Amino acid sequence: MDLSVVIPIYNEAENIAALHQEVTGALADLGLDYEIIYVDDGSADQSFTLLEAIAKDDPHAVVVRFRRNFGQTAAMSAGFDHSRGHIVVTMDGDLQNDPRDIPKLLAKLNEGYDIAAGWRFDRQDAFITRKLPSQLANRLISRITKVHLHDYGCTLKAFRREVVENIRLYGEMHRFIPAIASGVGARIAEVAVNHRPRVAGKSKYGLGRTVRVVLDLITVKFLLTYSTRPIQIFGLWGLITGGLGFLLACCYAFQRLFLGVPLGNKPGLLLAVFLMFVGVQLITLGLLGELQVRTYYETQAKPTYLVRQVLNRPPVPGGD
Ligand code: UDP
Ligand code: MG
Repeated sequence: MDLSVVIPIYNEAENIAALHQEVTGALADLGLDYEIIYVDDGSADQSFTLLEAIAKDDPHAVVVRFRRNFGQTAAMSAGFDHSRGHIVVTMDGDLQNDPRDIPKLLAKLNEGYDIAAGWRFDRQDAFITRKLPSQLANRLISRITKVHLHDYGCTLKAFRREVVENIRLYGEMHRFIPAIASGVGARIAEVAVNHRPRVAGKSKYGLGRTVRVVLDLITVKFLLTYSTRPIQIFGLWGLITGGLGFLLACCYAFQRLFLGVPLGNKPGLLLAVFLMFVGVQLITLGLLGELQVRTYYETQAKPTYLVRQVLNRPPVPGGD
């Protein structure tokens, strides 16, 4: 199989017929062996019935139905798990992404990239509630993850199979797939894509998403930089705070013991004790983290590195 298109669907009944027609139209001319995987994320409307009818008529359609609403990230993850294509494309099920952009993404992958990410350069959504927070979030994500894209939130993306097989998604992490994938050494390119206003159905998100994205960003940053060496981040801060507290405490001890200064009216003493406590706690946290890291990698028999190629050695089972 050449291509799998993964589409999360949550209460999109009004869009499904047109969606299937558009995607099929865009893929038919490419001459590829393809499948379209619809993941029904616990829709409460007619979405599943409509998808069922499509699956009956069209052998290219695969439908995965969730038992309840698990969220867009989980739906995309399930799509990856059920996909068989060498290339996996993800897109929204509300017709805001244009399936006619898929060939552009595939061309980028043919240039040797592992991920081609869509950039909605002319995004058709409300300014205050959607575009502005998204612009700020995009800048923040770009600075922090050091994977520089204009638009992380665009679902229209194409991946090589190895990429989707090597990553696990939690929370609201689908927008961080490029950042997580850069952690496994993926080469990423950006492609300007068309974006259309939503004409049917309702958006599933509001402003609250921004907060969740920022929290997930903290997790991603940690996983990318310190997940194999937590003591180096917690331990460092522990040494700094603990050290400061200790110095301060020494000053007070010196004043009390040798200069006879009474300490009763010195609030800084409390600060010194507090800093020393925090320092010890942070170092302990780092040590616990080190234990966790070992459990994490060794229970999954996961190496702490990823190999792209080995020359002059026969491939080992499980490697490429
Ligand atoms: N979606 C989903 N599960 C959810 C929320 C959304 O599968 O819990 C799907 C939704 O059906 C759509 C896509 O994710 O295909 C993007 O959702 P939406 O259009 O509401 O997001 P926006 O484009 O407004 O960011
Ligand atoms: Mg949308």
